[in-house]
Amino acid sequence: MCAGWAEINNRISINAAAGGIPVSAAFELTSRCNFNCKMCYVCHSPGNKAAIATELDAGEWIRIGEQSRDAGLFLLTLTGGEVFLRNDFQEIYEAYSRMGFNMTIYSNASLITAEKAKWLGMIPPSKVCVSIYGASPETYEKVTGHGEGYEKTIRGIEALKNENIIVSVRTTVTQDNFREFGQLKALAESFGSGLGVVNYVSPARPGCGNNPLETRLTPEQTAQYELEIEQQNGEINIEVNPETPEQGPAKADEGRKSSGETVKSAFKCQAGKCGFWINWKGYLTPCGLLDIPCERIGEEGFAAAWERLKKDCLEIPACRECQQCDIREYCMSCPARLMTETGAFDKPAAYLCDTARNRLRLKTGLVRQ
Ligand code: SF4
Ligand code: SF4
Ligand code: SF4
Repeated sequence: MCAGWAEINNRISINAAAGGIPVSAAFELTSRCNFNCKMCYVCHSPGNKAAIATELDAGEWIRIGEQSRDAGLFLLTLTGGEVFLRNDFQEIYEAYSRMGFNMTIYSNASLITAEKAKWLGMIPPSKVCVSIYGASPETYEKVTGHGEGYEKTIRGIEALKNENIIVSVRTTVTQDNFREFGQLKALAESFGSGLGVVNYVSPARPGCGNNPLETRLTPEQTAQYELEIEQQNGEINIEVNPETPEQGPAKADEGRKSSGETVKSAFKCQAGKCGFWINWKGYLTPCGLLDIPCERIGEEGFAAAWERLKKDCLEIPACRECQQCDIREYCMSCPARLMTETGAFDKPAAYLCDTARNRLRLKTGLVRQ
């Protein structure tokens, strides 16, 4: 049987992790967004001059793209903020397209006009992942601060579909939209997509973002929500906590194991092995949740920064309690989430522990302290 793209990408990533080749990345082209979601960990306002001043320009992004490609990059996600807010997005995207990347665009779709979709349809990415935040203008107003964003998003998705661009719909679950799962799923299906659900809202990154902790689900709600999804849908078409390519499957260690290398990394994902993130200021980090370790792509170029980042990542301590934890199969603990929740890589996070205990309780009836 022929392997599908997802399987091929997975195999590429596993082999790349074994060789430390940076095959998979997300470029965070901007921290600015036309929405202002309560749970956002990054958004600056569209006209934020300080944010604009720190963004790399198109030439710098293109240079980083070339250097990353020469080092092995193939699977590239373009994300923000909102990438279509950049006036030079077309210039950057077309340059990357000529470099031959397999590209995914993350967008809220509200700025995608028929004209922009037509342009994109001529050199389509492998898919556009569109986040939807509610099934009505009222919910959009509560979540994003922009009720009119609902209609704009729907029009944006329709424009993409009219150009035969593959759209993958996902949502981030919060206090304001968790009761709308059924409607959101129906909406996604009306566009020929399943509904991916991001079920973890992280605290804001330093210096940007709103106050996500006020709007994320409690551990009890998260476990209950997941159970209801499972009961309604079984395993079909539901992608709980979808990972971007740079995060990748938790199988990144497989390549290292199969190549006989001792796995020392605290990361069980691709971060710092074959996956990386570059933020809007041009700093290289293992993933989007982390500000450290962080390497500047200076005069020496991307390849040297990547080698430094790989070493930095191997220095990150694994959490001993998580390693020995007997409910870790119910937990989404990882170095980035521990750091963002607790300020340390190796300290268990109360929110994650409580969520794991609630999953265990709901699924098995068992309770652990
Ligand atoms: S979550 Fe996405 S759409 Fe919402 S403000 Fe942040 S970047 Fe914009
Ligand atoms: S460290 Fe955690 S959040 Fe970052 S890519 Fe890996 S699994 Fe995802
Ligand atoms: S965060 Fe808590 S529940 Fe999760 S693996 Fe670590 S100790 Fe276990």
